[in-house]
Amino acid sequence: MGQRPVAGATGEATARSAGGAPPADVRRRVPRTDTVLRDPRLAAAVDRLGADRVKAAVRQAQERARSGAVPPEQVPQTALDLLPGTASGLRPVINATGVLLHTNLGRAALSAAARQAVREAAGPTDVELDLTTGVRARRGRSALAALHARVPAAGDAHVVNNGAAALVLAATALAAGKEIVVSRGEMVEIGDGFRLPDLLVSTGARLREVGTTNRTTPADYAAAIGPDTGFVLKVHPSNFRITGFTRSAEAAELAGLGVPVVVDIGSGLLAPHPALPGEPDADTQLRAGAALVTASGDKLLGGPQCGLLLGRTELVRALARHPLARALRVDKLTLAALEATLTGPPTPTALALTAGPEALRARAERLAAALAADGIDVRAVDSAATVGGGGAPGVSLPSAALSLPETYARALRTGRVPVVGRLEAGRCLLDLRAVPPEDDDRLAEAVRSVRPAARGRA
Ligand SMILES: *Cc1c(COP(=O)(O)O)cnc(C)c1O
Repeated sequence: MGQRPVAGATGEATARSAGGAPPADVRRRVPRTDTVLRDPRLAAAVDRLGADRVKAAVRQAQERARSGAVPPEQVPQTALDLLPGTASGLRPVINATGVLLHTNLGRAALSAAARQAVREAAGPTDVELDLTTGVRARRGRSALAALHARVPAAGDAHVVNNGAAALVLAATALAAGKEIVVSRGEMVEIGDGFRLPDLLVSTGARLREVGTTNRTTPADYAAAIGPDTGFVLKVHPSNFRITGFTRSAEAAELAGLGVPVVVDIGSGLLAPHPALPGEPDADTQLRAGAALVTASGDKLLGGPQCGLLLGRTELVRALARHPLARALRVDKLTLAALEATLTGPPTPTALALTAGPEALRARAERLAAALAADGIDVRAVDSAATVGGGGAPGVSLPSAALSLPETYARALRTGRVPVVGRLEAGRCLLDLRAVPPEDDDRLAEAVRSVRPAARGRA
């Protein structure tokens, strides 16, 4: 199921005779399956994709040859063209949307260090074993140590599947059957119809809403706190902004109320970022008195999908030992990628965030000149990128883009190396801020290769 041939990859209809099957001698010349499979390129494909897929592609290619759609000697190449590029249906794409963390594109791109760590952890690893003593050890201890080192204000750290899981674990362990006090201005929908209030209530906690959409004061929280309070929750409005007559309470203003303050910062900044002054970070929140901070690993931290829990030692330990923690546990690949993200060189996300507008403009000019020289209707334009993916709402990052005719959008998306741009004022923009400079040549090649398709649709 789901094996999709690469669209337009074979020279369909080139050799088809004008109606009817080709002569018997052509059909006799169609090579047998085992002969085709001896082609070293197809033998390599068997190692990469499995024999079933490759055989199915060979059968399809033979069928085409028998019907006269391709010459018999092109069966191996046709089978190769029919094979997917990767063993999973997930295709690597170039993110030229100008949205640094695009949820539909899997949010943060892993650094080379993290990719390498994932490969190395793919076999058996000591994820939960102390090799010196030979006994069980704390799962993912080196990743947790790396996290702790980056957030010294935390007593301890725990990692779960994603940001939502971190909140669910906190709510279940600290507030099931009790109340979570939360501002009406922080009842957030995180995307695709999922709403944090629903998520929290699903754990058996009750929500005690305080304040109004635009204004909630520390006194509002204080008045709501009682024996039933599990914790006070602060949620960073990470995908929208309320401006004007507003007031919200900071963790520091709530820390003295006698109940734990849990802060969902969302984006996963561990320390303040100079380019994003409005974005909360874990270290600052903990220093201000938060008992627990929750965050995603694949937003501004630039790592794998995971949920971070950082805070007071006894709280984090209680969460990590809660029965539900077992159901939210991350695998070794995630732990490997997270640790390499935390200790390694700057992530693609960090580099995209800090790229200088002049450098981006220079890349756009260079690419536009090269493509225009090939006769493509392209120019370099100024653009505005965003962080996206639940981070830094309202922040516009000056960027540069290639501007192409609108028909390129679909052609590029469905090309051999899929490129996802964005439409603006009837043009297809390929924003370079989220494209690593080392992918510039691949991007240019992708534009060149879809040019006939884009033109055909004009
Ligand atoms: C993104 C986000 C979440 C959800 O995190 P996931 O990792 O997507 O599960 C929760 N809260 C806030 C404030 C967020 O920004």
